[in-house]
Amino acid sequence: MPFYICEHCAFETQDPKKKICERCKSVLLLKCPYCGKPMEKTRTIYCGHCGEKLKISICPIQ
Ligand SMILES: [Zn+2]
Ligand SMILES: [Zn+2]
Repeated sequence: MPFYICEHCAFETQDPKKKICERCKSVLLLKCPYCGKPMEKTRTIYCGHCGEKLKISICPIQ
């Protein structure tokens, strides 16, 4: 199942209706910006397809 992440605060969701991060109101990443493939694993930092880093900064998840 694809999921969506916020590259700024590392918020993650699998709700396909969400386009905006609940925490910081940034646009969620729907797919890897480098290779364009959907992301398939939760809590990932690097794309499983091309290995590029997806999240700019990681805040501890409260
Ligand atoms: Zn965010
Ligand atoms: Zn990629």
